[in-house]
Amino acid sequence: MLPQKRGRIPFRIVMNCYWKILAVFLLFLPSALSLQPRALLVSFDGFRWDYIYKVSTPNFHYAMENGVHVKQVTNVFITKTYPNHYTMVTGLYAESHGIVANEMYDPILNETFSLNTMDIHNSKFWEEASPIWVTNQKEGHKTGAAMWPGTDVKIHGVFPTYYMPYNESVSFEDRVARLIDWFTSEEPINFGLLYWEQPDEMGHILGPENPLMGPIISDIDKKLGYLMSELKKAKLWDVINVIITSDHGMSQSSSERVIELDQYVNRELYEVIDHSPAVAILPKEGKLDEVYEALASAHPNMTVYKKEQIPDRLHYKHNSKIQPILAVADKGWEIVYNKSDGFQFGNHGYDNILPEMHPIFLAVGPAFRKNATKEVMNATDLYPLLCHLLDINPLPNNGSFNAVKDILAEEVPVAFGADTYATVVGVFLGSFLVMVFIAVFVKHFILTQANTMQMQHTEAAQPLLQD
Ligand SMILES: [Zn+2]
Repeated sequence: MLPQKRGRIPFRIVMNCYWKILAVFLLFLPSALSLQPRALLVSFDGFRWDYIYKVSTPNFHYAMENGVHVKQVTNVFITKTYPNHYTMVTGLYAESHGIVANEMYDPILNETFSLNTMDIHNSKFWEEASPIWVTNQKEGHKTGAAMWPGTDVKIHGVFPTYYMPYNESVSFEDRVARLIDWFTSEEPINFGLLYWEQPDEMGHILGPENPLMGPIISDIDKKLGYLMSELKKAKLWDVINVIITSDHGMSQSSSERVIELDQYVNRELYEVIDHSPAVAILPKEGKLDEVYEALASAHPNMTVYKKEQIPDRLHYKHNSKIQPILAVADKGWEIVYNKSDGFQFGNHGYDNILPEMHPIFLAVGPAFRKNATKEVMNATDLYPLLCHLLDINPLPNNGSFNAVKDILAEEVPVAFGADTYATVVGVFLGSFLVMVFIAVFVKHFILTQANTMQMQHTEAAQPLLQD
């Protein structure tokens, strides 16, 4: 039997295994890429946390069964649309991000900001903070925004990579279609934001306890179902982390629960900057004490603060856009000049301690636990959570990642990002080069040894041949 040639056969086996491993790696390359962190943040304006129990909402419940449901999210004061949408993308209280109300006056700039008239594009009002899309893009990623408040404003010189100028008449389906395009384009976004105006508008008109809200909530459930089916069609549903939430809830108003400022103080002495139920009052020059004294004990269901008296727990004091006097109505009460002002059956903006002001919160996707519930979280915690999902560095904020990390699935590689991918590719290519080097070296060494032995044999044989 011939002696086995050492070196060659084991080396072939090693190379064979290596090629097989490389082939498997390349085969799974697309799915590895699909694990790049991606997130979609969805807000249904004014969707109160308990609307899902009022009527059949199979799509919300499907999302709950496949993800995490946080039962009580404490949003920020004032519980209005713009302050809370900016909190979700900055992790800051209103006093820190500077969007302190839907209607604002900045005494330093001597400029106003109004959601009512959509006069919201003055960058200076937004630039006390830097929203997540600015950071996301600085870190080399792309963002797509479908009507999210503030995403059609240039903030610190930046718009989202793709965005839709705000237009209420653009349908939900069109907004979803744009997002799907952005997530699946050749240069895809890693982060999408989707905003829808309902059920807030109808909640104001009807009041949250009105049975007619049933069909409105059912319609939102159908819209969520549509979003999920489109994500599934685009093969995004299993690889994207979706957060479905809202900015605030809604409470029932009544024409029996109205506080009329005209009954207590002369309208010539002050200006109302932001309206019921948390009324921002700017007294005329030198009239602060007079207006405050007139209102302080005026009505048992209205709490009136001088700015410096606003409780610390509301985090609503340290900003020049917070006016010198704040009058806050109790739940279900309204503050108006007088009853001729007009009236709606639902409102929000009240103390953020009230459950009626709290939004829905669901999180579904590969990063999250399945069929899990969490009792409470703060809306400020969403920002560090999103930064974790996107594998980007959060800016200083009022939230806590530790407070919400228990909603994450433990074993899933949440942040298999571009850096990780580059490392894996590097290791494979590096090992390949080392294997080639070893192959060439060993082959060269064996050949040299063989030649040397052959020469020695030849030299040793020569005298015999000469004989
Ligand atoms: Zn809202």
